[in-house]
Amino acid sequence: MLRIGSKPADCRFTREKRVIWRIGYDLFDEVRYLLTRGQPPAEALTPTLDLHIDILRTVLIESNVSFLEIPPRPAGHDFICCLTHDVDFFGIRRHRFDRTMGGFLYRASIGSLIDLLRSRRSPADLLKNWLACLSLPLVLAKVLPDFWRPFEDYAKVESGDRSTFFLVPFRGKPGLATDGSVHAWRAVPYGIAEIEGEVTQAAKRGSELGVHGIDAWRDTGAGREEKRQLIGVTNQTTVGIRMHWLYFDADSPKRLEEAGFDYDSTWGYNEAVGYKAGTLQAFRP
Ligand SMILES: [Zn+2]
Repeated sequence: MLRIGSKPADCRFTREKRVIWRIGYDLFDEVRYLLTRGQPPAEALTPTLDLHIDILRTVLIESNVSFLEIPPRPAGHDFICCLTHDVDFFGIRRHRFDRTMGGFLYRASIGSLIDLLRSRRSPADLLKNWLACLSLPLVLAKVLPDFWRPFEDYAKVESGDRSTFFLVPFRGKPGLATDGSVHAWRAVPYGIAEIEGEVTQAAKRGSELGVHGIDAWRDTGAGREEKRQLIGVTNQTTVGIRMHWLYFDADSPKRLEEAGFDYDSTWGYNEAVGYKAGTLQAFRP
């Protein structure tokens, strides 16, 4: 029996030869809410939409109704996994006296020592991070190679699997926040056109490249410009997008479609990990 709190939420009865099963909530309304507004962060870890699907499946099976279900995964596999990276930083040489550099120096020096004392890091890790700190002047002077190379670093640990990189179209552009304000530190110190060589190499390795959008979520024209920055380098015909800082509003799906994006991957929380739509399945907004 289905329950909401301690009260039963469904009932089944027979009328002549028909079995009627009533469920005490509006399934379509619930699903509409999940796919348009998303569930609150406090519920982030509940796959609500998949639970609704599970109820439907159970009702059909127990009622002896034959049906065809196409699970969102390849035949013979339990699940699919999608590996994606938002590239907010590209090369430590692009940072000098900013928050990113300050954060790096703190994490690599004092932060790493604290991690060692809390047994969250090995002495070898600590040594490696301290050496990185010490080598920084030589890296900035271009004597040693830059150690922030996201494409190469991920390729090394992903051992042949091909992941998706969302790249920032414009350097130094903070864009507008959802409340119309400007946060200067949302700007990123690289743009796709500046890293053309690395992007081309990553595309050759089979990585998927998408746009890490700045203003596309609120402005169709900006979306077209952001998309142009990527296809100007890669000539790709399919382009996905995920917004920097996950900025989004109710009209964003429409604007992104008009700007020519094939899919959006923004639908998540800044403050929580989990299922904003109550599912990890792809859906049409
Ligand atoms: Zn970002």
